[in-house]
Amino acid sequence: MHELSLACSVVELVEREMRRHGCGRLCAIEMTVGGLSGIDDDAFSYSLRMVLERTPFAGVRVEIHRVDPAARCDDCGETFRPASLYTPCPRCGSYAARLVSGQEFRLSSLIVEEGKE
Ligand SMILES: [Zn+2]
Repeated sequence: MHELSLACSVVELVEREMRRHGCGRLCAIEMTVGGLSGIDDDAFSYSLRMVLERTPFAGVRVEIHRVDPAARCDDCGETFRPASLYTPCPRCGSYAARLVSGQEFRLSSLIVEEGKE
């Protein structure tokens, strides 16, 4: 299952970041996922929560920001919202359209509550 292995790598990254920054309690994990990234939000957020259960970060908030896909035509400059990676330009029919956004998959931020001494 694709989403589960992605969730595992995200959790590894979170653990590494948290170790690097030292103290503080993790409150939330924010992810950015593009509409054409091929990742199912629901399956991913479910997997992520499941993997987190086995770490000290069980119960942290998971926020997934979905990015709408956008493409720009190299031939006529038209920008449009592609339905897939291979959508032709709606204005001139060219397939030379480049995806500007929509394939993102990244950990955007970790919300950490500073520990009080
Ligand atoms: Zn075009």
